[in-house]
Amino acid sequence: MPSCRACGAVVGDVVLDLGEQPPCDLFPPAADPGPDPVFPLRMWLCGRCSLAQLVEDPGTAEEPAGVEPRALTEQAADAVRVLTEAGLVRPGATVAEYGSPHGGSWLPLLRAAGMREAAPGERADLVVDCFGLMHEPVQDKAMAERAERLAPGGALVAQFHSLASILAQGQWNALRHGHFAYYSLPAMTALARTAGLAPDRSWSFPLYGGTVLLELRPGARPDPETQRRERAELAAGVTDAATVAGLGRAAADGAARLRRELAERVRGGKRVLGYGAASRTIALLNRAGIDHELLPAIVDISTGKHGRRMPGCRIPITGPATLRGDLPDVVVLFVPDLLSEVRESFPELKAQDTEWLLA
Ligand SMILES: [Zn+2]
Repeated sequence: MPSCRACGAVVGDVVLDLGEQPPCDLFPPAADPGPDPVFPLRMWLCGRCSLAQLVEDPGTAEEPAGVEPRALTEQAADAVRVLTEAGLVRPGATVAEYGSPHGGSWLPLLRAAGMREAAPGERADLVVDCFGLMHEPVQDKAMAERAERLAPGGALVAQFHSLASILAQGQWNALRHGHFAYYSLPAMTALARTAGLAPDRSWSFPLYGGTVLLELRPGARPDPETQRRERAELAAGVTDAATVAGLGRAAADGAARLRRELAERVRGGKRVLGYGAASRTIALLNRAGIDHELLPAIVDISTGKHGRRMPGCRIPITGPATLRGDLPDVVVLFVPDLLSEVRESFPELKAQDTEWLLA
């Protein structure tokens, strides 16, 4: 039985079960026939603090920071601008960052704004957590560590992909090994409280379909906007297991739809390619049972993946030259955030009137 990574409760519900999945950072050489190791991939909603969380984790290494998507770079700039307007980013103040193993550090921007990086262990006026906390298996310990870094009067700002938007858009493939928590405002509030912090202001951004930046301080009270956001999330059912379990239905529907759409095009003689060998792509392909007969290759700009294949199936990963050489009729885009970026990078596809399928 799972016990909560934040509050230790053992009461809760499995709300999403993606079956046995390969570790999402394992890209075997293309010639390796497999089979690849697989592990259960399940999301559980705590019945006490409502934190949505990963149940089993294979403990494999995190995907190294590859090429940073432009969406992430733009988000960093937006967030730092908002925090500057809010008076949290200011020249001469100190900052400590808890970043993501996937990259996307805000430190260059914060330094450019005149902030000084706190020395290891030194307390900071601003503690920034940018998708770092979700990578921590023991949530209350990780929150306590961040709270302890705060200088008197300091604030922790945590940026997270909102469970409310995961629900609203049926983004079941946000669930992956190595990502231990999927936060709603109520769950983040409960987690912050375990470390003596409380919500203050909050902002939202379009990244990943809905990303929240939340200010946490000792003794704070949620401002009207944060209260409104929390009410909206509660109304949307972020703490209700039956509602969150809608992700499981979305997973079944999404996988079946992609399989059907691919099969239709392949039957119609279309040449199909995938784009974006991301970790979320793996769960979708394995859930849908899609292999190289339906999708002959996936293009990715990260050179470290070229000559390798997707885990759990035999689809090879190739470089962008594949997209320029033999122009496909259909491109399945596994990272919809990249649509405008990819379209701009491949004007040839526009000329050819290529169809984009957003997975
Ligand atoms: Zn809990």
